[in-house]
Amino acid sequence: MENDNHKYQVVIVGGGPAGIATAITLHAKGIRCCVVEAHKKPFRKAGEAIPPNAKPLLKQLGILSLVEDEKHKAYYGNKSCWGSDQLEQKEFISDRLGHGFLLDRLHFETQLQTIYTSTNNKFYKGFKLKKVVSNDNEMLATIENDKKTIRLESQFIVDATGRKASVCRHLGIQKENLDSQFAITFNTKLSNGIPNEIIVEATKNGWWYVAPYAENEVTMMFFTLKALLPAKEKMTAFLKDELVQTIHLSKQIQNITISTYKIMPAGTSCLQIPFGENWLAVGDAAYSFDPISSYGITSALASGFYGGHAVADFLNGKQEVLDVYRYVVENAFQAYLQKLIAHYDLEKRWEHSYYWINRLALFNSEIR
Ligand SMILES: Cc1cc2nc3c(=O)[nH]c(=O)nc-3n(C[C@H](O)[C@H](O)[C@H](O)COP(=O)(O)OP(=O)(O)OC[C@H]3O[C@@H](n4cnc5c(N)ncnc54)[C@H](O)[C@@H]3O)c2cc1C
Repeated sequence: MENDNHKYQVVIVGGGPAGIATAITLHAKGIRCCVVEAHKKPFRKAGEAIPPNAKPLLKQLGILSLVEDEKHKAYYGNKSCWGSDQLEQKEFISDRLGHGFLLDRLHFETQLQTIYTSTNNKFYKGFKLKKVVSNDNEMLATIENDKKTIRLESQFIVDATGRKASVCRHLGIQKENLDSQFAITFNTKLSNGIPNEIIVEATKNGWWYVAPYAENEVTMMFFTLKALLPAKEKMTAFLKDELVQTIHLSKQIQNITISTYKIMPAGTSCLQIPFGENWLAVGDAAYSFDPISSYGITSALASGFYGGHAVADFLNGKQEVLDVYRYVVENAFQAYLQKLIAHYDLEKRWEHSYYWINRLALFNSEIR
């Protein structure tokens, strides 16, 4: 339904998992909202693993059937070489919730946006946030595409813009980076496929993550620190060298061809506080997780679900609910940090390597 005056109770900026989870929760609570998404079409993002314990949340959100679609794969477990030279296997077979999911990420983003479109709420696709101003209990957001500039008025604005936290940035609120880890991601063909599981292997300069993508094709990611990233012309040689240094992956994956790759931030970052006057942040905008945790997508959906409930209750006069939201997401983040530290602490094979010295020193000084 067109809304000529562009007035909403809630404007959600960002049409990824967190933004759509917020929007469908608000819609179910009878709140009039819109979503603003910078890209005209869904696009493939990094990250595909959803652990089994996300299932109850997916059910609550009414989207469990989406991940059961045949384009996604059942995720049976992980193999990991971390902290010792052994390749350890963790299978979900004994998990009471069964297997997880390895998403076809582009398809998942498309499915989420289709669900939102079916609510008949306004979707500003291909519009980028340009400005946000808080004015007398009202949030004024300016969005634009190559043809139009639109001013949106709302009682509340939700930042679901991912790692960049664009709404917060416009409001003058900075996100703190706890480390400078980056990911180099690419796809490569193999002569044989790999089972529906994820393989992780630590090396002197970081760690590898490999997931099945298509038949005989895998997604590979190498995680390292910004200071260790090579120059563009040396990237392929760097990745090949890092692969050769692995004990197990190098036996399974040889002769990789890297036609294109992407480099992106992949560390931990957080807002000091995930809400303020008439705004709230969900998903990566509030807290960004190290992908070793496989936590990002589930956490984005969860914070969208709880954030959506909190915003709806706030608009219905319950002032304290935003503090309750903060309590829940902050505690989840603290629990994540403790697990992350414990996990990096397991790896002691390269005590003199820049990556491992800096990684552990940073977490030790910043977080403990
Ligand atoms: C290398 C890597 C590997 C990962 N692997 C996994 C994994 O295996 N499992 C897992 O659970 N998580 C993984 N993640 C994390 C996961 O992908 C994210 O946590 C998740 O996408 C967060 O969802 P979100 O909705 O908060 O943000 P996003 O998915 O980033 O969505 C934000 C949306 O906002 C839009 N946007 C941004 N700025 C603006 C603007 N100014 N105006 C309008 N729209 C805007 C963007 O176009 C985007 O669509 C990985 C991340 C990385 C970097």
